[in-house]
Amino acid sequence: MSNTTIVSQSTPSGFSAIAVIRLSGSSAIKISKRVSKNYQNFKHRVAEFRNVYSGEDLIDQAVFTAFLSPNSYTGEDVVEISCHGNVHICEATINEVVKLGARIADPGEYTKRAFINGKLNLLQAESIIQLINARSIEAVKQQTKNLSGGTTTKIKELKASLLSNLAYLEYELDVSEEIYINEKVLKEIKMSIKRNLEAASLMSDTFNRGNALSAGVRIVFIGKPNVGKSTLVNKLVGIEKSITSGVPGTTRDTISTETVMGGIPVTLIDTAGIHLSEDEIEAEGIKRSYKEIETADLIINLFCHGSEVVDIKQHTDQIYVYNKVDFFPYTGENKNVFPISATTGKGMELLIKHIEKKVGFLRVDASEPLLTTIRQKEAMRNISSCLSTSLKLLENEYSEIELAAEEIKSAIYNIDLFTGKTTTNDILDQVFSTFCVGK
Ligand code: GDP
Repeated sequence: MSNTTIVSQSTPSGFSAIAVIRLSGSSAIKISKRVSKNYQNFKHRVAEFRNVYSGEDLIDQAVFTAFLSPNSYTGEDVVEISCHGNVHICEATINEVVKLGARIADPGEYTKRAFINGKLNLLQAESIIQLINARSIEAVKQQTKNLSGGTTTKIKELKASLLSNLAYLEYELDVSEEIYINEKVLKEIKMSIKRNLEAASLMSDTFNRGNALSAGVRIVFIGKPNVGKSTLVNKLVGIEKSITSGVPGTTRDTISTETVMGGIPVTLIDTAGIHLSEDEIEAEGIKRSYKEIETADLIINLFCHGSEVVDIKQHTDQIYVYNKVDFFPYTGENKNVFPISATTGKGMELLIKHIEKKVGFLRVDASEPLLTTIRQKEAMRNISSCLSTSLKLLENEYSEIELAAEEIKSAIYNIDLFTGKTTTNDILDQVFSTFCVGK
């Protein structure tokens, strides 16, 4: 990658006390001197008060902090200009910096440069974007753990162990004069590969929880019109987002609300009541309700006196809720039904606990690093698959050492893809395109 100096605003655009404009690249220092018309050298990590000029016009006074290569986020010379948080000041400063030779950074380009310069591995780069987008404190903790090396440590141990397995097999292939591999050695290698396979599979299994923490859980509320879906969603979130009314068909489209339950970010999706409707718009809303059902992690199926349960057999994870107990008590026998009143709050505590428990299967052990992207999951799955094949090859009557060694090499290659030690350009593009500009 060329070392063109890049610039962008690292804080959100708008009006604020301070905004940070960041430059990175070989001309970052030179450009910062010129934009401040102050040609004194910058000192590493020392904040300095300087003027900011747009052409000949003084437009602001700001704090400039230089981080000299290689001791910066990107590994290049970096200057952070903390100016006043005014859109016009930021725009004029960035324009001036561009005139002086920088270009606007692409999304994620600072982190991409940090990765290319060996400041971070790919797992850590992914953790940064997920940390920025984290929707609960648990997700923050998890990504901070990954950033400080949680998953990286585990994968390094796995790689070291596989390298040792490979070394044994290659010794047998190249050096050993014996025709058959020593039984004892073979047994030990097989046991070690088996342990590594288990470790890889355990890591793969953490993806569902990791993904729930980063992407959140989708809870879809369904039922006939007027059973109290919107009222319940509003009660859970504590705001009046969905309009509630006694006229059936008020929620004609799906309405999503983000919140956190049991530490997990959740999206509550209020759907159009499911019934036969002649109204074209309402019918479209009902069609969308079925689409939401397909992708739901959990369904809250509401009914009340006079409106029976909507039968959707295709989704197994459903919580049945009988609403409006204040108006008419639940007289059914089904112990799995939660009787509540969404308006008075009766029974809500038990229901919330149950939802949190369901969502809570995802609750994470704070010490366990989790896989949080599909890319990581797929690489880990490939590692498991190579190890499983290599084990099978060694278990054959005539242990096929050469082929087994190839599979282990393949597993190691996938570990390098996993951490980003080996990467293809499209993987990099895919990872960094999800970043915001300025990071
Ligand atoms: P939706 O069509 O399923 O979303 O239903 P709404 O949430 O719009 O509620 C329909 C009507 O039922 C509104 O007039 C609500 O005030 C009322 N309602 C909702 N929950 C309760 C409840 O627990 N008790 C009583 N008595 N009325 C409720």
